Amino acid sequence: LDLRSEDLILLRELGAGNGGTVSQVKHVTTQTIMAKKIIHMEAKPQIRKQILRELTILHDCNSKYIVSFYGAFLTEEDRDIAICMEYMDVGSLEAIYKKTGPIPPPILGKITLAVLEGLNYLYGSHKIIHRDIKPSNILVNSKGQIKICDFGVSGQVINSIADTFVGTSHYMSPERIQGATYTVRSDVWSFGITLIELAIGRFPFPPDGSKLTVLELLQHIVNEAPPTLPPGEFSDDFDDLTKQCLSKDVNQRPTLQELLKHPYVVAAQKSNVDVEAWTRSVRRMSATTN
Ligand code: ATP
Ligand code: MG
Repeated sequence: LDLRSEDLILLRELGAGNGGTVSQVKHVTTQTIMAKKIIHMEAKPQIRKQILRELTILHDCNSKYIVSFYGAFLTEEDRDIAICMEYMDVGSLEAIYKKTGPIPPPILGKITLAVLEGLNYLYGSHKIIHRDIKPSNILVNSKGQIKICDFGVSGQVINSIADTFVGTSHYMSPERIQGATYTVRSDVWSFGITLIELAIGRFPFPPDGSKLTVLELLQHIVNEAPPTLPPGEFSDDFDDLTKQCLSKDVNQRPTLQELLKHPYVVAAQKSNVDVEAWTRSVRRMSATTN
């Protein structure tokens, strides 16, 4: 599929983050609804071309746990990069929990399974580390599928964005904050934070919910105890899984392989939870709050 800017009609804006803006578009020749992400970057034409080349690896990332990729191109003025991907019609877990409150525990099991399988696919098949696991990068559609997006495929994108923004994230692991290189286990930490956030319905740092500056937050992550679930509200297996993901010592933290064998994940695999029915209730709740 050769994507060209002139074949896409804007339907609506979906949101904006640190690195870009996302809109819902329709590809006229194929009638496909897509999500188009525009990433603005101050980069030389040569670098932008290299980024486009690096992004073609996305064509090979095919998994039911990964948002699929349609193509990328430079925008008219050649200043920005547009990435077209599968449109996920129920939205991100961040948007969902902010509208509906904490995510029900049975759904958390299916989310855990999808994210771990997605990360395991990226690393196992492509040696890609995600680097940005958080609720806004886990998307849901009305078929009940849960998929991850916005992973760091392109070394050049990572560099250019790091040059443009101070690359801090609330989901960064203690070792990353202290300058260690990224490993899959850093994604495991970010996922642990994400799971607690989805389970309790708010970002879990600091425990008392007070507002911190970015620097204070980073100091807190490095120096204080990791977040925990409120006692007695969740299953022992879920509690144990999140504790393991949030081991501050990276060498104590489990790998994806180990996590996929955790009793919580094994049980989630076997359980027949109707995620599709849950997405219908999410849609009803969003319709009445908007
Ligand atoms: P950050 O820039 O810090 O990573 P973010 O993930 O919220 O934050 P974007 O990745 O730019 O920022 O996404 C903006 C919003 O667009 C998301 O919150 C999500 O709700 C929506 N979105 C992104 N991709 C899709 C998609 N493929 N389908 C549907 N909605 C999407
Ligand atoms: Mg995102």
